[in-house]
Amino acid sequence: MQPFRPEEVIVEPGSELSPIYRNLKATLPEVPFTLLDDAVLKNGHGDFSARDFGSAKRKLLLTRHKGEFLKKCPGSDGQVCCNYFVINFASNCSMDCSYCYLQEYLADNAALKVFSNVDDLLSEAEELLNKHRRFFFRIGTGEITDSLALDPYIGFAREVVPFFAKQPNVLLELKTKSDCVDGLLSLDPRERVVVSWSMNPQKVIDLDEHGTASLAERLQAAHRCQEAGYRLGFHFDPMIEYPGWEQDYERMLEQTFATVNWRRISWLSLGVLRNTPGLKRTMRIRFPRSRLLTGEQVLCPDGKLRYFQPLRVEMYRKMLGSIRRQAPTVKVYLCMESKEVWEQVFGFAPSCEKELGSELANFGF
Ligand code: SF4
Repeated sequence: MQPFRPEEVIVEPGSELSPIYRNLKATLPEVPFTLLDDAVLKNGHGDFSARDFGSAKRKLLLTRHKGEFLKKCPGSDGQVCCNYFVINFASNCSMDCSYCYLQEYLADNAALKVFSNVDDLLSEAEELLNKHRRFFFRIGTGEITDSLALDPYIGFAREVVPFFAKQPNVLLELKTKSDCVDGLLSLDPRERVVVSWSMNPQKVIDLDEHGTASLAERLQAAHRCQEAGYRLGFHFDPMIEYPGWEQDYERMLEQTFATVNWRRISWLSLGVLRNTPGLKRTMRIRFPRSRLLTGEQVLCPDGKLRYFQPLRVEMYRKMLGSIRRQAPTVKVYLCMESKEVWEQVFGFAPSCEKELGSELANFGF
């Protein structure tokens, strides 16, 4: 994978004292750094309009996060939720998938940002974990960014993995489409960190996951993480239906289970392509040739467009059948699906989000 290099690093006053700034300076010696003054900030420097979503990804803004870092994953109305928490350590992504929901979600705030106050993030996490020692948390960092794509420069994993590795009641998930795992390999995760990959066949990667690692690179990175003691996760999401998808997805599963030891996989998830009418409008402007614009989808009660339910159920059943043949006891769940679909695929649906959340927390062991 060709590592991303920002054209410029824009630094908000105060952020130049942070370890993230130090890491950026050490790893990007040839990239210009611009220190903003308050006046420029007030004039909106670093804000990019939806039209410029692509160019917003080329510069990196280092700034302090003003609100809370930790939030409960919003899930989706009426869908089974897995009781997941998210830490937003950065916003937007250096890669550029045609279906990325951030194109809509961050349309008015598209700057590629990394938050410099990691100390605040860790204090907040410590407070939450200490306060609820009897609750087992699953926390991810990949909701509005990729967990690892910027890691070679910002060194975020090195700042946080040692903290989470010491906690008794958490699994930290680092979710990525990159192969940027070098910074993880010398750390000891002590069974508290799951590194996970969003997976698709190479054909889908070539057409719609621009700037991401190839399937072979993702699998090689997963193998290296497993060797270094990390638990693994794989998210076959978003699954795309096209002529011959069954063979391509089957082959991808075979490659996955041939490369890593499935007994140390904490979880697999399945989900189909989801978008919204607004996201489709943006995709038509930014990726007019994407074939994802042409398939049939229906509007679901949560406002998202998905394939027809019978097709979704058929896709999940085929994937599940193939997974069960190769990795009989690996834990599998559906992402953002209704109880009806769960029942048709698995024969049951979790009774509440706490049940699924605690099941998944136990998957790690
Ligand atoms: S890797 Fe994830 S966050 Fe980045 S562009 Fe693709 S879908 Fe969006």
